[in-house]
Amino acid sequence: MIGLGANLGLREQTLASAAHALSVLAQVELCALSRVYESEAVGPPQPRYLNAAVRVHAELSADELFERLLAIEAAHGRVRLLRWGPRTLDLDILWSDTAAASTRLEVPHASLCERTFALAPLLDVAPELAPRYGARLSELGGAPEVLGRLVHSADGDVRFESAP
Ligand code: ATP
Ligand code: CA
Ligand code: CA
Repeated sequence: MIGLGANLGLREQTLASAAHALSVLAQVELCALSRVYESEAVGPPQPRYLNAAVRVHAELSADELFERLLAIEAAHGRVRLLRWGPRTLDLDILWSDTAAASTRLEVPHASLCERTFALAPLLDVAPELAPRYGARLSELGGAPEVLGRLVHSADGDVRFESAP
């Protein structure tokens, strides 16, 4: 399960484009798309974030998948200036069914249990994790505001659809 975040540029479009970029990766199958949530940024003062999550089935190690996430971030103009600073796109591995042994990565993501903007979309694409994380999400005040959702379009692309 991969978390997507954006707080610069055309945020909705960036999330949809990143989900599509994941779907066309070799050895990666896109299985589910979450709703899109908006929330205040953590860290230095900066624009509000949009967050979503996607569920993928990947025949790759966590490290290999992470390399591809970095490439997709870079392709969407990600520049790392300061930690928790504003960014066009952030892709984090939130959770994995397959034990991910790696020196660079902590999976589940280290801050998952502190972040409603990560827990809410994660539970959209992995409802089986509700017994594990649902109570924590409520404890933190529940899901952030829902702006819409990511959906597959007929041509195999991914687009953002506003909430009614
Ligand atoms: P945060 O990790 O608090 O969400 P961030 O996403 O802004 O902060 P980045 O600069 O994108 O931080 O990444 C910092 C480093 O976190 C990455 O270089 C990566 O090695 C490490 N990392 C550890 N675990 C994970 C994970 N599960 N998913 C993505 N990156 C991870
Ligand atoms: Ca992050
Ligand atoms: Ca990150």
